Amino acid sequence: MTPIPNQATALRLQNARSVLLAALQQWPCSKPELATRTGLTQMTIGKVVDQLLSLGCFVRAGDALVAGQGRPPLRVAPNPACDLVGIELGVRRTLVYRFGLGGAAGPQQHWQLPAHASLDALRGELRRCREPRAPAPRAVMVTVPGVLDVESGAVVYSPNLHWTEGRELLAGLAQDFAAPVHAVHEAQAQALGHLGCPEAADHFLLVDLGDGVGCAAVADRYLQAGPSPLRGEIGHTAVPGNLRRCGCGALGCIETLAGRAGLLRSFREASGQHGADWDEMQRALQGGDLPPWLTATLDALSMVVAGALNLLGYANVVFVGELTTLHAQVMPTLCDGLARHSLLGRFGRVGCSAAAPRRQFGLLAAAVDRVYLPAAAAAVPRSGSARAAARARPARTPGH
Ligand SMILES: [Zn+2]
Repeated sequence: MTPIPNQATALRLQNARSVLLAALQQWPCSKPELATRTGLTQMTIGKVVDQLLSLGCFVRAGDALVAGQGRPPLRVAPNPACDLVGIELGVRRTLVYRFGLGGAAGPQQHWQLPAHASLDALRGELRRCREPRAPAPRAVMVTVPGVLDVESGAVVYSPNLHWTEGRELLAGLAQDFAAPVHAVHEAQAQALGHLGCPEAADHFLLVDLGDGVGCAAVADRYLQAGPSPLRGEIGHTAVPGNLRRCGCGALGCIETLAGRAGLLRSFREASGQHGADWDEMQRALQGGDLPPWLTATLDALSMVVAGALNLLGYANVVFVGELTTLHAQVMPTLCDGLARHSLLGRFGRVGCSAAAPRRQFGLLAAAVDRVYLPAAAAAVPRSGSARAAARARPARTPGH
C-alpha cells in the first residue's frame, strides 16, 4: 500500500502536478514561463523542475550554446517516449493510440475501430493493433461511458454499452497488454482535458454532449469525487413530457433528447427526412432559425444543468460536443437558459462557454495522477474538497 505522505510532501506533489500539467500546454518552456503559468515562486519551480527531471517526466530541451553568450537558460520539455496506450471506448467507434507526455505517436500507431457488440470482439480487434515486437506499455489508459468504480476496476452500469459491464473489460485489457489499466469516465476525461487549456477556470462544471450526456465537476483543478461511483450522470434526469425510452431502462431521460441519437430522431420526426444522417441534419439547420424541437431540447437541457448549478454552487459551465456547433444559436440559447433557470442567474453571472473536446489530453492528465506521479494521488486529503485523485486506484491487474 502506498504510504500517505505528510502535508509537506503532499504540497510538493501537488506542485509537481501543477508544473507538469502547465508544461504540457506548450513546450519547451523555461522556469520563468512555468512560474507565470502556475503562479508558483521561482524557488519552488526550480525544485519541482529538478524533481521532474530526476523522475524522467521532463527532459532538457536541446538549446545550442551560443558563442559569446554563455550557457542558455534551462528549458525543459515533456519526455517524448510514447509509453502509454490510450483507448477511447465509444458507442459508435473506439480509438486506440500510443501516446505519452510528449503527445501522441504518428498515424501508424493510431487506430479507429468500428463499434463492437461484445468484449471478445473488442479484444480481437485490439490484438490486431498491437505490434508483436513493441515493448509493453507502461500503462493502458481507457475512457469508458457508464458508471465506473475505479477502486474495484469494474464498470457498474453502462446504459449505452451493456457488454462493458463488470470487471472483465479492464481485467482483459490488463492481460492483453501486460500492463496496468487505468479507467476514466469519459466525461471526467473531457474535464481533465479541459484543464490543459490555458483559459480553463479553476472551478467549473463540464457537460459532455456526445452519444450520451455526462457531466463532471472540477474544483481547485481536481475532479470532484462523491460517496459512490455514480456521479455526473445528469443525462439520466427525466424531462416532463418526454416519453422516449432510454438505454438505462427509464422513460424520459434528457439524454434521449440531447444525445446524438435523440437529436437525430427529433430532426427526422420534425422534417420527415427519415434517412437523414448527422451531416445532413447540420446542413439543413444552417442559416435558419432554431427549429422548435431544438429550442425545446436546449431549454430542457439548460434546466437540468441549472439544477446541478443550484445544487453544487458552480458559476462556470463548459459544454463540449457536437451539439455545441450544430447551429449558431445553440450556445446563446443554452447560456440564456442557464441564466434563466439557475438561482445565480437572478443576481450574478453564470459563465457559459463551449470548448473543443480534449479527451486524449484528459487521459494524459489522469496518467499524471495515476502513473507518472502516483504518490500524488495518495497525497491529497480524502475529505473536504473531496478530490477524485485521492480516490484514484489502478484497476486490479492480474499478477500485479
Ligand atoms: Zn436514462
